[in-house]
Amino acid sequence: MLPTFDPTDTEAGSRILEDITSNAGHIQEQVLEEILTKNASTDYLKGFLNGHSDKGLFKNKVPVVDYEDIKIYIDRIALDGEPSRILTNESITELLKSSGTSGGKQKWIPKTAEEGERRAFICCLRDTVLNRYLQGLSDGKALLFVLINPDIHTPGGLVLRTASESEIKNRKDRYPQFILCEDTNQSLYSQLLCGLVQRDAIVSVGTFFASGLLRIIKFFEEHWQEMSSNIRTGQISAWITDPNCKRAVSLILSKQMPDLADSIDLVCQEKSWEGIIKKIWPRTKYVLATITGSMAQYIPALEFYTGGLPVVSSLYGSSEAFFGINMKPLCSPYDVSYTFIPNMAYYEFLPIDNHQDPNCTNRKDAHLKDHIVDLANVKIGQHYELLVTTFTGLYRYRMEDILLVTGFHNSTPQFKFVQRTNVVLSIHTDKTTEQDLQKAVAIAMQILQPLGFFLLDYSSYADTSSIPGHYVLFWELQLRPNDDTPELDQVKMEKCCSLVEQSLDQKYKWLRNQSISAIGPLEIRVVKQGTFNVLMDFYVSQGTSLNQYKTPKNIKSEKAIVILDSRVVGKFYSREVPNQDS
Ligand code: AMP
Repeated sequence: MLPTFDPTDTEAGSRILEDITSNAGHIQEQVLEEILTKNASTDYLKGFLNGHSDKGLFKNKVPVVDYEDIKIYIDRIALDGEPSRILTNESITELLKSSGTSGGKQKWIPKTAEEGERRAFICCLRDTVLNRYLQGLSDGKALLFVLINPDIHTPGGLVLRTASESEIKNRKDRYPQFILCEDTNQSLYSQLLCGLVQRDAIVSVGTFFASGLLRIIKFFEEHWQEMSSNIRTGQISAWITDPNCKRAVSLILSKQMPDLADSIDLVCQEKSWEGIIKKIWPRTKYVLATITGSMAQYIPALEFYTGGLPVVSSLYGSSEAFFGINMKPLCSPYDVSYTFIPNMAYYEFLPIDNHQDPNCTNRKDAHLKDHIVDLANVKIGQHYELLVTTFTGLYRYRMEDILLVTGFHNSTPQFKFVQRTNVVLSIHTDKTTEQDLQKAVAIAMQILQPLGFFLLDYSSYADTSSIPGHYVLFWELQLRPNDDTPELDQVKMEKCCSLVEQSLDQKYKWLRNQSISAIGPLEIRVVKQGTFNVLMDFYVSQGTSLNQYKTPKNIKSEKAIVILDSRVVGKFYSREVPNQDS
C-alpha cells in the first residue's frame, strides 16, 4: 500500500522520498515478490514458471521481450475480449496508446485502476520536489495545457487512450478547472484565453513535452489579436461552440476588459517574441515541459520564448509505467537526471557498451538474461537499456530507452535519458542512431547560430531512389527576430552538410569515402516556417495525441515526406568527403 500525502506538505513528502530512496534495493525485491505472487497464475507467467512465484526462477526462466513478442497476448484481450488474467490479475480497465516515440508505431499498453494509484503517488512526489524548490506555487494558478481526443473502444470493449488522457479523464476531480474539449483548436483557444484573462494569477506555464509547448506558442502567435479583441469586448468568438469551452471561458470572461486587452496588445505587438512567456505571464516562476532526450533539440527555441525562466523536466514516464522524478528541477536542461522511484515497477538493466551501437545487443539473444543487472547494482558512468516488469502484465519488457547512470540519491540510482535504441537512418551497412544524428545536427548548427538562426525542428529519411542512396535532413530554421523567409547562405549551408557528415561515426565516413561510395553526399532540405506544425497536425489527424507527440526523426510515411517536400525552400549538398581520420 503506497502512503498518501498532500504534496504541498513538503516536509511529509520529503520524508517519504528520503525513506524510499534509502531502501531502493529492498523495495525492489518486495515489488518483484508482490508482482510474482499476484500474477503467477496468469497464462503468460504460468508458461515460464509453472505457477511458481520464485524470484530466482523468474530471473532464470522469464525471457526478455519487446512489444512484438507480447502483442499476441494484448490482442487477445483488446480484440477478442479475453480476460485480463492472460497477463495480470489486476483488472485491465484501459489500454494506453503509446506514441511508440520516434519510431512512429503505436503500441497498446494495459492499464489498471491500481496502476492509476501508483502514478498518482509518483506525481505527488514530483509535486513535493517542485514545491520545495519553488515557494509560493499555491498562491497562484498553473496554466497547464492539455488536449484530449475522443475515446476509442477496442473490439474487445476496452477504452483506448493516451497515458496523459487517462490521467486527466480518470482524475477529473483533481483537475476541476481543466477544459476538456475534443476539438484541438477550440480547446487551445479557450485555454489560452483563460490564461490571458488570469494573466496576473499565473505562476507556472507548461504542457507535457517541449514540442507541444512550441506548437501552442505558434497557435498563440496566430490568434492573439482575436483573443485580445474577445477580452476587450467581453465576448468569446462565435466559432467557439463547444459547451465545455464556452462554460469555462464565461466563468472568467464576463465583462469588457479594455485595459487588459491594451496590455496584451502592447506585449504581443513587439517585433520579437523573445521572452514572450515571461512578458505575458509576469509572475511565472517556471515552465513545465519535458526537454530531455529527443526533446533536447527544442532547448534553444524554448529558451528564446521563456525569457530566462527555468524550464523544468520533472518526470520520466511512459505508457508502460512511470519511472523517475527530477530531484533538481531548476538545473540546466542539459543536466537533468531522473531518480527512479522503486515502488512503481521492477526495473532491470541491460548494459550497453558506451561505443556500441545499441542495436548490436542482439534482440533475440538467449544469453541476454545473463547480462542483466538490477536497480541496486547499476554502475555510475555505464549506459543501460531499461527493462520493466509491471503489475499490469509486462515482464522483462524492453522499453527501448537508453539511460546513463549519473549518480545516486541515497541508495537510489539517477539516470540521464540518453536516447531511444532505434536506428533512425540506415543505408548499406550504416546505422545512424537518433543520438548520433542529434549530436551531428547540433555541431553543424554552430555555423548558423552566430548568424541568429536556431533550428525549430528537424527530421530525416534515407533516400534510396537513386544510387548510391543518401541521407536527407529536413530543417526548419528560424531567425531571431522572427523572419518568415530567412536568407540562406549557400556556402554556409553546404558547410553544415559537411559538418553533419564529419560528425557521424567512422562507419558512415568509410562508406561515404569516394573509393567505396556506398552512400552519396548528405543533403539538407530547408523547409519554410510552420512546416513541422503541419507535420504534427498530420500525425495528430492519424490518431497521435498532441500531448505525447514527438517529431519522428526518421520519416517512413510517404504522405509525411510529401508534406515536407512540398514546403522545401532550399536544397544543399555536402561538397566534401568526410575525413576518415577525425
Ligand atoms: P509514451 O509511451 O508515448 O508516453 O512515450 C514514452 C516515451 O517517451 C519513453 O519511453 C521515452 O522514450 C520518452 N520519454 C518520456 N519521458 C521522457 C523524459 N522525461 N525525457 C526523455 N524522454 C522521455
